[in-house]
Amino acid sequence: MHDSLLRDVDFWWFLFDIDRDFAKNAREDGCLCGGHLHAGNYFRNPRGGPDDLPKECCLRLSLCCGREGCRKRLTPPSVRFLGPKVYLLPVIFLAAAMRQGPSPRTMRELSTLFGADRRTLARWQVLWQEHFPQTRFWKVERVRLPHPNEATLLPRALEMAFFTSHNLRDDWERLLCFLAPITIAGGLALAVPR
Ligand SMILES: [Zn+2]
Repeated sequence: MHDSLLRDVDFWWFLFDIDRDFAKNAREDGCLCGGHLHAGNYFRNPRGGPDDLPKECCLRLSLCCGREGCRKRLTPPSVRFLGPKVYLLPVIFLAAAMRQGPSPRTMRELSTLFGADRRTLARWQVLWQEHFPQTRFWKVERVRLPHPNEATLLPRALEMAFFTSHNLRDDWERLLCFLAPITIAGGLALAVPR
């Protein structure tokens, strides 16, 4: 399974580059007030990645408006960080997906692999299976998947939809870019019931 890729530092540089593109695009768009955006990056101390993950790879790219009276912070989407969560997004996804499918991993195995305790792993199951399907994001975007009404549990349904080529990095990129809108503030907001 692809958990070995998540221990490869190169993979995290690859994701860092994607985040850099997100930040570049956001910067070009500018602030809503019309002001210019400046780099307001900050370091995070994420868990679940390789032990030798360089500090530079833990930089959360963020922007600040330079206009007096606004100074708004704008944190663009990410393929690495899921909002304020301490564990890295690919880890939160993969650990939950590995609990499912024809040969699900045990909590103990996943705990050893990713260093997360049982309670944390259980929370991720709840996130993907109970919270995520209720989000505005999912209600709108699920139609982009090949079988939007398939009863397969999340997040495995996403794994099956995106991991289709023979290039794991490409598949991760497509999946994480699809999910990126949920990583910004309010990205996991629930759909308003009609
Ligand atoms: Zn502004």
